[in-house]
Amino acid sequence: MTKPPKLSTLSSATRDLLFPPRCVGCDHLLPPFVKRTTVFCPLCHAAWDTAVTEAAADATSAAERGLIYLVHYRTGREDGAPERLIYHIKHRGDPRTFAFVAEGLAPRLQEAAATLPTRKPEGSDQPLLFTYPPRRRSAVNRDGFDQAERLAKAMAKACDGQFAPLIKRTHRRTAEQKTLNADERAANAASSYILSPHAAEAVRDRSVVVCDDLCTTGVTLNRCAELLVSAGARSVILCTVAQTEERKR
Ligand SMILES: [Zn+2]
Repeated sequence: MTKPPKLSTLSSATRDLLFPPRCVGCDHLLPPFVKRTTVFCPLCHAAWDTAVTEAAADATSAAERGLIYLVHYRTGREDGAPERLIYHIKHRGDPRTFAFVAEGLAPRLQEAAATLPTRKPEGSDQPLLFTYPPRRRSAVNRDGFDQAERLAKAMAKACDGQFAPLIKRTHRRTAEQKTLNADERAANAASSYILSPHAAEAVRDRSVVVCDDLCTTGVTLNRCAELLVSAGARSVILCTVAQTEERKR
């Protein structure tokens, strides 16, 4: 007896039929021979590969005090294929885009995690724990999803790790980070995030990866690292898809 097709396979096949996959960089239809796991046409893929390779060459691998910053690529000034991928991740929520960046980041993350000075001998470690700084409720309502949460889940899947929502936003009204200057951002971030209940229990002696799509000043990620370390995390990796230059004011 033949098994019925899996719903997930069916729905993605149906979706491809109704909306043939397009390149997120240039919006052209993807050629049929392109790999199922990519989101780019060959030309945009080459631009992405260049951006990622440049960032990797530039990255410091030092794991000072068990804290690692991992950036997949740095955004330039021009609007290229990599910038459009970030736009898709932020506002469209296409699962392909999250799986694509997670698969690219996973080997780099595992390499970085292996350099953590406090890692126990091989085999005795628990899987990496993946979490994220939640968006403001109004932004989640506007876009219909939280891109940092989706990224953390995709990363956990790509790295055989565990996903856990460890960080919460405080309920008080806070200004959107992008409207503030550097000092205001730091103060705003410090008072905007707290640990979830039971987070301390979950992170004790674990290596935690905080995932976010975009890092501008790093204050949000630093605040997350601070909270997790104070709760007993053994080490923290801050993992973002893109790093932007600080906005000039
Ligand atoms: Zn393209």
